[in-house]
Amino acid sequence: MSETIFSKIIDRDIPADIVFEDDLCLAFRDVNPQAPTHILIIPKKPIAKLGEADDDDQALLGHLLLKTREIANDLGLGDAYRVVINNGENAGQTVFHLHLHLLAGRPFSWPPG
Ligand code: AMP
Repeated sequence: MSETIFSKIIDRDIPADIVFEDDLCLAFRDVNPQAPTHILIIPKKPIAKLGEADDDDQALLGHLLLKTREIANDLGLGDAYRVVINNGENAGQTVFHLHLHLLAGRPFSWPPG
């Protein structure tokens, strides 16, 4: 996978407002927040998008979701938050390094736009 802005954040080549890190993942605030709280959770492993994850990534994908829950709890988001993965350009993906959006702090409509 080619280098992305997110791999540069992992490597500390560019700055980010990091809220959580462990061996497998990194979480930081979105530079263009779409809600009062908008965090991105990314694997350190360079997976371009969910559609390119494979069966060997099962534990990693579970880890990302459980860390998202933990970050939501640590930030006091209560039980009203939304987790989004945009997969592919036509679904709104702009950075091709898998990431979960954790959004909170305003009402959310359904279906999403
Ligand atoms: P997506 O459109 O699902 O690929 O989401 C990419 C997200 O990355 C967008 O919400 C951008 O605002 C965010 N983003 C892009 N560059 C940065 C950056 N340097 N630091 C933090 N967030 C970023």
